[in-house]
Amino acid sequence: MNPDIVIIGSGIGGATVAAGLAGSGAKILILERGERLAPTPQARDTKAIFLDGHFRPKEMWREAGGQRFNPGNYYVVGGNSKLFGAVFLRYRREDFSAMEHYGGVSPAWPFAYAELEPWYSRAEQLFRVRGELGDDPTEPHHSVPYAFAPVPDEPPIARARQELKALGLHPASLPLGVDIDAWLAGGRTGWDAFPNTGAGKMDAETAPLAAALADKDIELATGANVGHLELSPDGRAIAAVHYRHRGQTTKVSPKLVILSAGAIMSSAILLRSPSPKGRGLANASDQVGRNFMNHNSVAVLAIDPRRRNDSVYQKTVMLNDYYLSGGKGGRPLGNVQLLGKVDGNVLAANVRLAPRFALDWMAGHSVDWSLVSEDLPDPESRVMVDGDEIVLQWRRSNMQASDELKRVMSANLRACGYPIVLTRLIDKRTPSHQCGTVRMGLDPATAPLDVFCRSWEHRNLFVVDAGFMPTSAAVNPALTIAAQALRVADHIRHADLARS
Ligand SMILES: Cc1cc2nc3c(=O)[nH]c(=O)nc-3n(C[C@H](O)[C@H](O)[C@H](O)COP(=O)(O)OP(=O)(O)OC[C@H]3O[C@@H](n4cnc5c(N)ncnc54)[C@H](O)[C@@H]3O)c2cc1C
Repeated sequence: MNPDIVIIGSGIGGATVAAGLAGSGAKILILERGERLAPTPQARDTKAIFLDGHFRPKEMWREAGGQRFNPGNYYVVGGNSKLFGAVFLRYRREDFSAMEHYGGVSPAWPFAYAELEPWYSRAEQLFRVRGELGDDPTEPHHSVPYAFAPVPDEPPIARARQELKALGLHPASLPLGVDIDAWLAGGRTGWDAFPNTGAGKMDAETAPLAAALADKDIELATGANVGHLELSPDGRAIAAVHYRHRGQTTKVSPKLVILSAGAIMSSAILLRSPSPKGRGLANASDQVGRNFMNHNSVAVLAIDPRRRNDSVYQKTVMLNDYYLSGGKGGRPLGNVQLLGKVDGNVLAANVRLAPRFALDWMAGHSVDWSLVSEDLPDPESRVMVDGDEIVLQWRRSNMQASDELKRVMSANLRACGYPIVLTRLIDKRTPSHQCGTVRMGLDPATAPLDVFCRSWEHRNLFVVDAGFMPTSAAVNPALTIAAQALRVADHIRHADLARS
């Protein structure tokens, strides 16, 4: 194939932009480093997933000035979404404006919520999102309601929802891309952090990639690992994409290049690409790799020794009462959502020294929550490359919001009747909500990309993945990446960029 467009990466950004370009007549080659995940017994085994790290990449990164670590960054067809929790939340309307946080100002996006709203609706349809409007006080305007009813609460969770309501709070159903019957047919487990090897979870492979590959002009090459991009002699375009495919080094020269390797790997590819000034491509602003964000997430186990929690999947409720303010003029704190049901193996992977029977007992009696607070952009929070190695210098920010949310929710959960509330900040090894490293903006001096994710410097280069996000907000990123990917695809079609 001699493609018009090459898309690098088949995750949420890459697969969704491909789906948006399907039927355009453009010949598209998707280069994906990983392979398709095959069904195996390990895919539903918490020991294999959480304790043995069976699905983690055989790769080490380094913390700046510190230790090497094995990152939870997944190179398979569908990318990180193969293991995601399938929460498809919209950023709130306020997230698009500048907002004062405890840790500083979260800057405005280069456009308002209304610009992305129609694309959110289309993304929800593409991922067959299930949910219910009307219960969440922070819910932004939806021009199209959810097409499917929410995934039902299991009995212990229905009770937990009522307990929060009784405190005067506003729990709501998590919008989810999960067909619960199809998922449970593959094994009675939750789906959050489990690899999807069937059809129960709407991830990048099962939803947009499947839609894209129905177009005979779109092809997927797996095992195709992109190393760098080559600049044209005038420096204004990408002349070629260099990659290794099944042991061979090769290159391809399309009209358009869409880089969608994920926030960390896309910035690494740009930084590694040869350039006249030696600081990588699309980087006149010196912002490539900078402003790395990853939510501050706290896991909470609310334990009532008198009641067992026999839920299988659990993850159906969220709470946004503290999203915009902690109350009484307080600053935003963040989003609260259920985790997938934990078991002794999940706990043992995080708390190595506790006796196993204690962990099993705790997991059997806990309702498990995640508290998600916004991480703010900071140029010194950054991805760097050192030869083949990724060096991650994540400077967490806004921890006061995270601490305050932990304090408020611990009190609420005790008031709900859980006398033991245990909390733990999620560590740095899993950059699950990575974003911000190739941000878009109105000014080429401060952002590598324009509002359609096109490089200000290289006319045929787009970066469409979590890297484009100017802020992390405090909701899960996938739906916002997908909505913008559909918006970018529409722009490419209408401007006829694949032909010029
Ligand atoms: C455990 C877990 C749970 C999560 N839960 C949620 C959730 O419930 N809701 C939500 O919104 N988000 C969730 N996320 C985050 C979500 O998965 C990511 O935000 C999303 O997948 C990012 O999309 P992306 O396109 O930026 O990158 P990815 O989806 O990761 O895609 C990047 C792709 O590029 C490929 N690639 C990388 N380097 C190269 C290369 N050199 N050459 C070729 N291909 C390459 C990768 O293999 C991958 O397929 C979760 C993530 C994890 C890990």
